Amino acid sequence: MLKPRTAADESLELDPAADPFSHASIRHLAARYGSPLLVIDAERVRRQYRRLSAALPGVDLHYALKPLPHASVIDTLCAEGAFFDLATNGEVELVRRLKIPAQRCIHTHPIKRDSDIRTALAYGVNRFVIDNPDELRKFVKYRSRSSALIRVSFRSPDARVDLSRKFGCEPQAALDLLRLAAELRIEIDGFSFHVGSQSAGPAMFVEAIAQCAELLRAAEKLGHGARLLDIGGGFPVDYLERCMPIEEFCAPIRAALQELTPATRVIAEPGRFISAPAAVAVATVMGRALRDGRWWYYLDDGLYGSYSGQLYDHARYPVEALVPSGKTYASVLAGPTCDSIDVINEHLELPLLDVGDLILGHAMGAYTWASASEFNFFPRATVLALDGGRLLADRGRR
Ligand SMILES: *Cc1c(COP(=O)(O)O)cnc(C)c1O
Repeated sequence: MLKPRTAADESLELDPAADPFSHASIRHLAARYGSPLLVIDAERVRRQYRRLSAALPGVDLHYALKPLPHASVIDTLCAEGAFFDLATNGEVELVRRLKIPAQRCIHTHPIKRDSDIRTALAYGVNRFVIDNPDELRKFVKYRSRSSALIRVSFRSPDARVDLSRKFGCEPQAALDLLRLAAELRIEIDGFSFHVGSQSAGPAMFVEAIAQCAELLRAAEKLGHGARLLDIGGGFPVDYLERCMPIEEFCAPIRAALQELTPATRVIAEPGRFISAPAAVAVATVMGRALRDGRWWYYLDDGLYGSYSGQLYDHARYPVEALVPSGKTYASVLAGPTCDSIDVINEHLELPLLDVGDLILGHAMGAYTWASASEFNFFPRATVLALDGGRLLADRGRR
């Protein structure tokens, strides 16, 4: 498994043919770098990007940094020709550090401070998102060097994370914004929406695309050069529950996009779909206790760490113990903090584990490490990004 390291090849960490998520690779990485870890596989980032690109031909994919704002993911995607979706000064700072061309980035936070707008503009990002008159007016003084998409909201009861409540305007209000923008001489490029993360089906996309097609026609009549439709993120991945394969999910979306006038440029903002399957979390059993007939295992990562997505993102991750299979027992996996809510799963059947054994969490690249805290002073997982056996620089950093 482990190749001999030469001075010329200091960064070669695993056999290039080895899957970084194999048990042997994970054991090696944990022995060498400790625990807890978040292991990112650049090849899986590429695979997800290519799969979604193939399912949505002609749609420029802007990776939303929020679910996994790590340099390795951004560099890998940039080399694939991807675009980027930024929402905060920290995200602008990250792409600046990585020298991602500003023309490949848009800024999509519907509510911005003046300093957010200035920071993005200073880097050269000049396309923004607005959803109300006050936000639109913030661009009067920048109108010569900026343009905006209007974020429209469509209620999505079937999405697990409904984003249409907090942001976006009704289609009718979008028409008023178009008129106001014309008065203020602010350029409107088109429309955006986000149907909600981990969307259960494509129906909401299809409906939203049809309504946006009408809005694009209305914008043209009002003299805006609006030709851009941003269909947002929300593309689902498998967790404990399986979802629709992305090709099947995107087929009706593709058909709906066919109905747009050919001059319309279409972009999307996938986050979860690209990053979730591209990382695993590695934790270690710190201690155990038999309580009420169940084995409680206390890990060095939990709900305040990489498993924070169970709270914030309502996700349930497939977990497995890296031990030989055998007789199983009713088991509980708990996080390390002294808080009683810090329990990952109370209803597992696991082989008997010992202190020092490893627990692997799958599909943990999105909304996990990104929302982890250091509550109780338990450090966030160390990030290891691997590509073809090589450890990418920037370990642990964003
Ligand atoms: C979070 C977010 C995304 C990414 O959504 P996913 O469901 O992870 O694909 C895209 N666009 C905006 C504006 C977001 O806030």
